[in-house]
Order: sequence, then structure tokens, then C-alpha cells
Amino acid sequence: MKTGQINVQTENIFPIIKKFLYSDHEIFLRELVSNAVDASQKLKFFAQNGEYKGELKDLQVEVILNKEEKTLTVRDHGVGMTAEEIDKYINQIAFSGAEEFVQKYKGKEGAEQIIGHFGLGFYSAFMVAEKVQIRTLSKDKGAQAVQWESNGSPEYTITEIEKEEVGTDIVLYIAEDSSEFLEKERIQGILNKYCKFLPIPVIFGTKTEYINDPSGEKDENGNVKRVATEVTNQVNNTSPAWTKPPVDLKDEDYAVFYRELYPNTFEEPLFHIHLNVDYPFNLTGVLYFPRIQENVEVQRNKINLYSNQVFITDNVEEIVPEFLTLLHGVIDSPDIPLNVSRSYLQSDANVKKISSHITKKVADKLAEMFKKDRKDFEGKWPDLQIFVQYGMLSDEKFAEKAKSFALLKNTEGKYFTLEEYKEKVSSLQTDKDDKVVCLYTNNPEEHFSFIQKAKGRGYDVLDMEGPLIPHWIGKLEQQFENLSFSRVDSDTLDKLINKDEEIPSKLTKEDEEALMPLFEDIVDKEKFTIQFESMSSEEAPIIITQPEFIRRMMEQQKLGGGGFYGAFPERFNLVVNGNHEKIGEVLATKTKKSRERKIQQLTDIALLSQGMLKGEELNRFIERSIDLV
Ligand code: ADP
Ligand code: MG
Repeated sequence: MKTGQINVQTENIFPIIKKFLYSDHEIFLRELVSNAVDASQKLKFFAQNGEYKGELKDLQVEVILNKEEKTLTVRDHGVGMTAEEIDKYINQIAFSGAEEFVQKYKGKEGAEQIIGHFGLGFYSAFMVAEKVQIRTLSKDKGAQAVQWESNGSPEYTITEIEKEEVGTDIVLYIAEDSSEFLEKERIQGILNKYCKFLPIPVIFGTKTEYINDPSGEKDENGNVKRVATEVTNQVNNTSPAWTKPPVDLKDEDYAVFYRELYPNTFEEPLFHIHLNVDYPFNLTGVLYFPRIQENVEVQRNKINLYSNQVFITDNVEEIVPEFLTLLHGVIDSPDIPLNVSRSYLQSDANVKKISSHITKKVADKLAEMFKKDRKDFEGKWPDLQIFVQYGMLSDEKFAEKAKSFALLKNTEGKYFTLEEYKEKVSSLQTDKDDKVVCLYTNNPEEHFSFIQKAKGRGYDVLDMEGPLIPHWIGKLEQQFENLSFSRVDSDTLDKLINKDEEIPSKLTKEDEEALMPLFEDIVDKEKFTIQFESMSSEEAPIIITQPEFIRRMMEQQKLGGGGFYGAFPERFNLVVNGNHEKIGEVLATKTKKSRERKIQQLTDIALLSQGMLKGEELNRFIERSIDLV
């Protein structure tokens, strides 16, 4: 037996590891299993190129839980280590910056992320174990099996042992305060999370001692004892879809993989993108487009980040642009630095490249789909629109590319690209300032009468429903010169698309002055601005509108939050059509009382057609209408 000191510059690095290394202690298992997988793959490699001539056993990795003995063992049949290798790879841990680090960051926030920099893969075992053994036999011919043991102080012992099989057992004696890691379900859960797609089979088993089994050997008290291993199923799929060449996969394979990734999701994705880059960085993955409709938030953070098939995180916010976090699927890149702080990730050049590559791929895929089968793309648009709009709002490059496939739908259900639409409506819907004015509704039913009137004039009306529409419209106006959007109820027909064609008014100044007080008596002046307009006689006698800019401001207040919601009261215009014959009739009416009655009735009808007549006022209107019959 040999004893020695683990070569670290400070006496008490282990308590620090335990406390700070990773905020999530559970990752010790990921580290140990991925070491075991590495060792197995190395042996496979040596066997293939003839460096290893021994027998290549089943290379599976076994995780064995023994609750009675309070141990958790990670066993592989990989390359193993000689005593010299243990000395080199385990004892001489390159802790150059550790001492300095400890002095500098002791007790400071975020320390765990920085110490993660040191990549203490194997030593993370001490986060949960009070004693760790490495029992290993090297692949080298005639090697002596050895056991390394340490109780978490920088001291260790090395002993020669008997071990027949090449490979390594890492035995963790789980510490009192970490007993959660002796629970079968907990371990199963961790393996499921981190090891689900490792390239070497991972088997999980629990070892239990059965007392009073008549066929078993007797212990010192005369009880019969037998050790049984209960093997659960293999934890992982060793060749997940993203590791295969895209040509080898059918749509069905992608669908199956989606269900494997999200067993609790019943919704089928819309389509997928297979990422496969090896230059200038390594990146593979499969991204899925979910059906996103109203509830954006539940869709988020479903992309899983892997490094060589080892799960790292499902929080990819810094790695992909925000709008892409709506996608689902897997990204695997050995080039993404792990265990480092988020701010470090953000500034990492590789991460930036990866991020813009993914954005480009996604835009290209959408453009390709649009080109290949426009009908199909149009069918998917209702599910895609939020994603595309979000992308255009948050990423300039994406917005540029999306010009070619972003769609507008009109109230007849026809789809147009922005250029196509501009072309279609420009002859009738260009205003005096040479702006093409697109009319839209976000509620065809509510705006029915406005839509009919607009169509009567030969105008087209877009059907634009969705939570991002108010922002997106702003974006389009900024991106396309001479294009503007007005909601179909935001003004009178003549003003919606102002062509500067004056219609002579039938009302004189005196007429207006006579009418004004009648309206002022019945409408709330805080809420309505009363205007007289000379409109065409086919328009309604009174129209309630809300100017586009006021409505957008209200919408932005609601959406963007900000402290100033409610700061601006809702305002509307009550527009009186001076050229309508009913207004003329009101003026000709003799008694003040019946004038008032007519004005009230016309105003209520205008409110009613905007859905703004409610409660007591609605009731009074109904009663008055009955009287009138
Ligand atoms: P890393 O995996 O990043 O190299 P670790 O601390 O996880 O760092 O492991 C240190 C080294 O110890 C490995 O590079 C490997 O040489 C050796 N090692 C660890 N676990 C095993 C194992 N199960 N079989 C063989 N070698 C191992
Ligand atoms: Mg490792």
C-alpha cells in the first residue's frame, strides 16, 4: 500500500468543491458516467486499430445502487488505469488557479460557476460521497489491478487488488447529508435527465440483500443471506436521431424521436430542421417547430443542449437568440464551453457563431418550404406566424430573410407576401402622400359593418389576429417604405385612406353650431371628441372611431406593460356625417324634445355597431326603440 497527497495547493479544497463546485450536486453522476463512457469508447477505439488485443467485452456502463451499504457504483469495461495513470490523471489534478481562486472568491456569489471552470469532473464525486474508491484494471498487458481511496481530504491510499476484468469501478460511499442519492427513483431520474442519449449502453441496477432466503449462504447469525441484483432497463438510446445522417431518416423517425424527447407532449410538431455542421465549428441537432398559438410561454425552454450526447442544460437562452427558444429539440456541440458562467457564454465567439448559424438555418428552411410547396406553407402559417413575427421583431437578419416568406392573409382567406400585397392594393389604396395604406381587422365579426363599407369601395381588408400583431405592424411599417396600416374602424372611410378629395358639406357653420350642444348633452366629453365631417352620403350618419395612433398606444401599454398602463384614458371620435339625410332631418325637426330623441337614437345606433352600448344605456335604447314602433 502506498499513501500520498493529492497535489492541490490548498489543504481544504474539498469542502469548497462540495459547497461551490456546482449548484446542482446531482451532476456528479453525469460526470462519472460520462468518464465511464469515454473509457469504454477509448477501448473500442484501441481494439479497432489493433492497439488492444484483449477480449472486447460488452462495453456497457453499469450504475449499481446498494442502499444497505450506502454505496453507488459506476462500473465500466473500458480502458482502466494503471497506478501511474491514476497518479497522473487523478492525483496531479491541475489546480493551478485553485488556491488563488479560493482566496479571491471565498463566499462570493457566483463562485460555483467560476470554479466550474476547473472542470473537476471526477472530483465532483466528493459533493455527495464521504469516501470514494477507484478499483481499476488497465487494458495494458500484464497490468496490476489497483484501488485508490480517499475520504475527501487531500490524502489518498493506493493498494494492489484482485480484479479480473479490464475496466473501472468508481465506488461512492454516499455521505449522510446526501442520502437522497440512495433512492432508486432519484438516481433513475438523474440518469434519465443526463444520460438518455449516451453512445454506450447504460444499465441501472439496485443491489439488495435478502435475508431468510433458504437457498442462500448463511451469515454469522445463522440467517440466510443472498445478494440479488435487480436490473432495470437500459437507460439510454445510444444512437439518437441527431447523430445519424439526415439521408438515413424518414419523417416518421423524426416523429418518433420527438416523442422520445418529450414523452409527456401529445402535440405533434409542425416540421423539423436537422442541423449538421462540422466546419468552422461542430454542431449537430434536430430542431422542431411546435404549433405555437396563443400561449407562448409554455413552449419555451424545451431545447436540450448536449455535448457529445451528454445532456448539459435545457436553458439555452444565451446560446440561441431568444425567439428561437420557442423551438423544441436538441443541439449538440462539443464546442460550447460547459460549466461556465452565463455572461461568459454570451461573449464566447463560438457561441455567437453557433447562434447566428442556427438563425440562418431556420430562415433558410422556412424560405425553402415556402418555395417548395406554398399551399402547404400557407396551411402552416397560423401556427408559424407568431414565431416568424417574433423573429422579425427581435433579429434584424432574420427580418431581412423573412421578407420573402412572411405572409398576410385577407378577410377572404387569401395569402400574400408583403410585396405581393403592396402590388395588389396600391392602385386603390394609395393616399395623397403616396403611402400604400393596408386596412386590417383583428376581429372580422366585430368590424363587420366597417369591413363591408371598405369592400364596397373596392378596398381589401387584412385579417390580422394574434398577440404580436400590434408590434409586428410597427415593424413592417419601418421595414417597408411607404407602407402603413390602419385598422378598418380607426377612421371614416374617406380619412382611412386620405386621398384629399374634398366632398362639399351640406351643413353650414350655423347648422353645426346648432347641433353641437345636442351632442354635448348626451355624450361623455372625457371619452368622445365630437367632429363634423362631410362624408359621402352612403356612410352612416354617426360613426364611432378610434384613431390608429391612440389605439396602438393603448395596445402597447397593455402588452409592454411599463408603469404607465392606465395613464392614458381611452378616447374615441364621434364623427357626425353632415351629408347624411338623417342629420338634415334632425335639423329640420321642430321641437327640441324630438330633436334630442333623434340624436340620442342615432348616437346609440353608432355605439351599438361598435359593441359599445351596454347596461342601462342599452336598456334605454331598447325601450325607446319599442316606443318608436
Ligand atoms: P476529464 O474527464 O475532463 O478529463 P475527469 O476529472 O472527469 O476530467 O477525469 C480525469 C481523468 O481521469 C480522465 O481524463 C481519465 O484519464 C481518467 N478517468 C476518469 N474516470 C475514468 C474511468 N472510468 N476509466 C478510465 N479513466 C478514467
Ligand atoms: Mg470527465
